[in-house]
Amino acid sequence: MESSLVFRVIGWLQALGYDRTLYFHVLGEPLLHPGIFDAVDRAAEAGMRPVLFTNGGALTSSVIRNILASKACELVISMQTINRQSYEMLRKTPIGWHTYLARIQSALAVANDAELNKNGCLFRVSMGVKKPDPEHPEDLYFLDDESVEHVKASIAEIFSQVEKLDLADVFSRLDRNGPSSVAVAQAAEFLSLSVKPMGNWRTVYRDKSVEQGRCDTFGKEMAVLSNGDVIFCHLDYDGRTAIGNVAEKPLPKIIAAPGFVRMTRDFTSGRAVARGCEYCRKVRSVE
Ligand code: SF4
Repeated sequence: MESSLVFRVIGWLQALGYDRTLYFHVLGEPLLHPGIFDAVDRAAEAGMRPVLFTNGGALTSSVIRNILASKACELVISMQTINRQSYEMLRKTPIGWHTYLARIQSALAVANDAELNKNGCLFRVSMGVKKPDPEHPEDLYFLDDESVEHVKASIAEIFSQVEKLDLADVFSRLDRNGPSSVAVAQAAEFLSLSVKPMGNWRTVYRDKSVEQGRCDTFGKEMAVLSNGDVIFCHLDYDGRTAIGNVAEKPLPKIIAAPGFVRMTRDFTSGRAVARGCEYCRKVRSVE
């Protein structure tokens, strides 16, 4: 997306009174955008809370410096894996595990250095273990069984360059509840981590469409894809729920359009499923 359009979207959000978290991705990698830090700063100056997500591969030392110099409130490193084996099963990139791990380790060490992280940007590592999927047992994106000890060893390795680290709370939660049980736990002043079961995106959709029902996600989020399409769900990376395009029409007009208002009323009440959601498993029937 052109930076000029990013700025226009931020301006419309500000005019609409939006003052909460703003993410810069749906399924993409925001750190690859040449104007990302200008966009982050613009969002902060407009009163929002800019949060960056990255898979961690782009965390070179210059990118880390730019993050710390920006007005980003939080950086989430969405590893989705826990170790070399699962990384190689999931990610098909030219960046090898050792380079990937070293970049994340350096980022965490720098983030926890108060001298370098003067703005207090929070860094969170999001790790993933396999969510069982009986319908597609052939999928090999994650290792089948990750023991608590495996997960602990991986956490210790990922955070190995961080000073004043305290993993006691994280490890005791893992001991108590198993390998996929850490929602978000603090590991140091500016560092936290989470471990959660990761599924496959294709399981989001079903084969047969449904016409009636509602969804708890609907109405809580909205996104603009890189081509300008406005969508109302983070699952919709290919724009099947598009309700308009900000390159053609201002955002406030798109969300105030009678067709979208009617669709919102019908989906919220369960009378009719919104266009683009017909095949989503998250639609639940209304009793
Ligand atoms: S039904 Fe699915 S695609 Fe539609 S809003 Fe809910 S979660 Fe998103």
